[in-house]
Amino acid sequence: MRYPFLDLETLNRQHFCNLQKAAARVIESGRYVGGTEIEMLETELSLMLGARHTVAMSNGLDALRLILEAYKALRLINEGDEVIVPANTYIASVLAIVHARLKPVLVDPDPLTMNLSAEAIDAALTPRTRVVMPVHLYGRVAWDSDIATLVGRRHLLTVEDAAQAIGARSATPGLCGSSMAGGIGHAAAISFYPTKNIGALGDAGAAITHNPDLAKTIRALSNYGSDTRYHNILQGFNCRMDPIQAAMLRVKLPETEALSRRRRCRAQSYVRRIENPLVTCPALPAAESEHVWHQFVIRVSHGRRDALRTFLLEHGVGTDIHYPTPPHLQPCFREYASLSLPVAETLCREILSLPISDCTSLDDVAGISDIINSFHP
Ligand SMILES: *Cc1c(COP(=O)(O)O)cnc(C)c1O
Repeated sequence: MRYPFLDLETLNRQHFCNLQKAAARVIESGRYVGGTEIEMLETELSLMLGARHTVAMSNGLDALRLILEAYKALRLINEGDEVIVPANTYIASVLAIVHARLKPVLVDPDPLTMNLSAEAIDAALTPRTRVVMPVHLYGRVAWDSDIATLVGRRHLLTVEDAAQAIGARSATPGLCGSSMAGGIGHAAAISFYPTKNIGALGDAGAAITHNPDLAKTIRALSNYGSDTRYHNILQGFNCRMDPIQAAMLRVKLPETEALSRRRRCRAQSYVRRIENPLVTCPALPAAESEHVWHQFVIRVSHGRRDALRTFLLEHGVGTDIHYPTPPHLQPCFREYASLSLPVAETLCREILSLPISDCTSLDDVAGISDIINSFHP
């Protein structure tokens, strides 16, 4: 493949020596659960995101799920309460809600930003709505002054799914003094799945919050419900991050800002270069810091998405689709199959993700754009 979609081996090779040293540190420490690597990563993430508390976790799904479970344990929400979530998100957002025995209320995204809008939230509100889950999909912040006003007026908890958006900064201030994705709402989940902008060498995630009681409860839930050793205040889980992953992440975390800048350059170059009447490029946010371009997602009209994808493959360009089937049309969610979510359903037929990682040079962006421009309707 001349232009691979994503080549994790190449990406991680750039850090090979430091990753090796970090792994050696853990091996030699004798601490294989918890310990200083975890504590340091938590501190570094809190500083970076302007949040008071970070709990390192096993993965992004567990982080989301345990935030919701912790709100239940604190009696701020109850079983059956409704959580508003965009219908075009990755299925993990919805799974976290149902695993916590809450009710997902799927709403259509704004077709331009492909994110949750205040209008859509407003239209979905019921007396049982307790939580809004903005998903910063593809790395674009899902937050604006209308959403901030609405959640404030309705006293809704805001749980960000920031799995794809580490390093993104909102132009509208968050609820608790931070504008960084992950620090905007009351609580947030981040994922360090290997393909995310900052990826571990396995599964890892984090829960972020400004609320000390929530942080304490999430931490207990992630560790068998234990607050101190052999003392269990809750019927908890085991959702801890491995220290070896914390050590890997501490190598990569300082790169976040530079990495986002490089992704923005590639995105802007695609937008300047792609000129094909079938193709709509993603809208650039007013402030470029609002997007970290986890994915660069074009829309292809006239039912030609799959044909363009095949054409690109024949020309050596790897692509992906995020996501080909929305959660409400998955076999596991048959109960939601009859919902009317036309935007999410149209998007899943039209979207195509182009290569945008550090494996893709600006010359590659030019080459890929030329190939797209040579695709005839
Ligand atoms: C990756 C992802 C998750 C889940 O994170 P994992 O670490 O893979 O469990 C949740 N939500 C979104 C939007 C994601 O992209």
